Amino acid sequence: MIVTRFAPSPTGYIHIGNVRSAIYPYLIARQTQGNYILRIEDTDQARFVEGATELIEDTLEWLGLEWNEGPIVGGPTGPYFQSERKAIYYAWAQKLIDMGRAYADPTDAKTIQSYRDECTEKKIPYLYRNYRPTETPEWHEGIPLRFKSDPKPRKWRDEVMGDMEAGPEVQDDIILIKADGLPTYNFAHIVDDAEMHVTHVCRGVEYLSSTPNYLALYEAFGLKVPKLISLPHILGPTGGKKLGKRDGAKSVTEYRTDGVLPEAMLNYLACLGWNDGTEQEIYTKDELIQKFSIDRIQNSGARYDETKLLWMNGQWIRKIFDEQGVEALFARTEGFWPDSANAYDDQYKKKVLSIIYDRLKTLSDLRVMTTYFFEDPIINTDMIFSNKFLKKISEEELSELLQISAKKIESCEWNPESLQNTLNNLLEETQRKPAELFSLIRIGLSYAPFSPALHLTLDTLGKNTSLSRLHQTITAIENH
Ligand code: GLU
Repeated sequence: MIVTRFAPSPTGYIHIGNVRSAIYPYLIARQTQGNYILRIEDTDQARFVEGATELIEDTLEWLGLEWNEGPIVGGPTGPYFQSERKAIYYAWAQKLIDMGRAYADPTDAKTIQSYRDECTEKKIPYLYRNYRPTETPEWHEGIPLRFKSDPKPRKWRDEVMGDMEAGPEVQDDIILIKADGLPTYNFAHIVDDAEMHVTHVCRGVEYLSSTPNYLALYEAFGLKVPKLISLPHILGPTGGKKLGKRDGAKSVTEYRTDGVLPEAMLNYLACLGWNDGTEQEIYTKDELIQKFSIDRIQNSGARYDETKLLWMNGQWIRKIFDEQGVEALFARTEGFWPDSANAYDDQYKKKVLSIIYDRLKTLSDLRVMTTYFFEDPIINTDMIFSNKFLKKISEEELSELLQISAKKIESCEWNPESLQNTLNNLLEETQRKPAELFSLIRIGLSYAPFSPALHLTLDTLGKNTSLSRLHQTITAIENH
């Protein structure tokens, strides 16, 4: 049985890269009847942030990455918080002590620093094993416990990076248990992965350089090495270096509040560094599960492109509307409407959504793109006078055009087809181009940089509102 895990540290900020590290092991587990475990790596107390675990759980739930074992759901290999697994780590540490492969290290910080300085001075790599103390006390909590390394050439296979090898120069007496009594990541993850029967370790490539030390630990314990899958860094938009907060990449939480759909986030991140070799770009979760394969994960960094994410989100908004209907998309829009929309019923909001959805990149675009459907816009005749299609037309003519239009529209039956016909007749009657006449009416109704097709805008706004806005605009032009 395939067992994977997502093992985040609860530091409060969910980086785009963290989420990708959650998605791939999920897909790998779901391709078979595998197990996907959530394990909270909270042994670094200095980095611990209140509420961070809940944020991780909430984000996974939002993305639809349900875990089979972990916090909330429990499971046979828990607890799933490393801070609650101390007894387990101590038992495994004892095994190493008994084998003569771990020792309590009484060396103080100052002495350790002097070893470091010495190496810097001599320009040689700092390896603690060269300073291994000769006298070591019996181990007890409060003294760091170190691994007694056995440096030798090591070869291994990384499922993404290929065949790897490393010499003794990168293997050392790493700390297993810190002075605060908690295990290091290096030690704890080996124990946990073994206890939790993890078969595939999928994590960031930053752990690749420590792998020789991990191999030494697997060997000391006589453990089978799980499949190692190192995910390359996500690079900033210009490529070259790792994506950082400064590159403008938001946390997943921020994208969520901005109205990015979980389907789009999942789709985008899954394809950031993986492709199935076809041109397909939009994948549902089920398609990803079906098509994902470890051997098509790229081994070089993938460039983060927010524009692409937002494009994909627009595609997903359309997909949900087209395939599941207005009801399904409307259900996602709560909290994204302008405040003035509160005074309107759902029926009306759905109508607005139906004519605007294909222009949305995020749900929060609703706030700026639909305001004029819920409140009269502020009249700004400059928008008319400076419009590229209208600036050559005199103010008298503009006012006259609007009057003719208002009159025609007033006698029109109020439905999209009749409105469309009326608008076409108006073109003939006024001998104006659509860009001229329709821009004028459009601005007069909305004073917005964009609005949906004119007959639909009129239909949705209703007769009274439409005519009253057109007359206000006529007055404003005349009083100019
Ligand atoms: N706790 C580690 C991190 O958040 C996880 C690495 C791993 O998946 O083993 O980077």
